[in-house]
Amino acid sequence: MNLVSSDCIILRAQDYAERDKLVSFLTPGAGRLKGIVKGSRKLTSRGVGSFEPFSRGLIHYIPRSPGALVTIRKCDPRPPYLYLRQDYNCFLYAGYMAELVDLCAIENEEAAPYFNLLADTLDALCEAGPARRLPLLRLRFELRQLDLLGYAPDWRNCRQCGSALLRGGIDAGEESGGHHGIAAAVFDGAHGFDVNLGGVLCPNCAPARRRSLPIAPEALVFLENWRGGGNAVRPTRSILQQLEDAVTEHLIHHMERKPRSLALLPTLEELEEAPSS
Ligand SMILES: [Zn+2]
Repeated sequence: MNLVSSDCIILRAQDYAERDKLVSFLTPGAGRLKGIVKGSRKLTSRGVGSFEPFSRGLIHYIPRSPGALVTIRKCDPRPPYLYLRQDYNCFLYAGYMAELVDLCAIENEEAAPYFNLLADTLDALCEAGPARRLPLLRLRFELRQLDLLGYAPDWRNCRQCGSALLRGGIDAGEESGGHHGIAAAVFDGAHGFDVNLGGVLCPNCAPARRRSLPIAPEALVFLENWRGGGNAVRPTRSILQQLEDAVTEHLIHHMERKPRSLALLPTLEELEEAPSS
């Protein structure tokens, strides 16, 4: 078969047989592929560095039948995401997001949005600055990946009784009146997030679902305003933790796999104490 050349992001690379590497990579046109790089473990091999995780490049490979490993000839590197390797926290977050993409069965025709999402997020990680910005980049990535997968959770209406949970905000219609796009919670008290029901429960319905995760009304309000483009309000650590727990569990539920790199991520407390170099 013919040699194919494509833009790519390397998701994962591991040693394979005695001298080879098994590489997982994402392309905008052919989705996520896996292939073998022959002889890439020899010290003298050229271009081995271009198979480092999160590298971007122009990859040249010979496709095989669907699902089979491709044969990778080489990868011409693009300017690498250097900062991701200099900052350990950024490196861990990049590894987590690359694994989320690696775990998805991404078909050819739907690959481009995933490619753009990962490329944009890696760019944003390079410019992230203070470590405390990393969790919001993660949350944004996870929510967008859920959108692409078709499993976006419902934050606006109770999944049990259908009650509206927010007034105003990005999806508000004519009835929002004087709210000017700023959301407010309808109910006080602890809401619940239920992955099996696909979203949030009002304080009346949440107690009956024992496995639901707690969500404060402030968390719903923050999320709604943040997604609507408002960034005046910084989330507290507890709000961020609730949203992180809910969104990650929702993602794991639908992917049916738990990313191994999740356990390596620093806690929110550790990030707040990290030097903001
Ligand atoms: Zn309800």
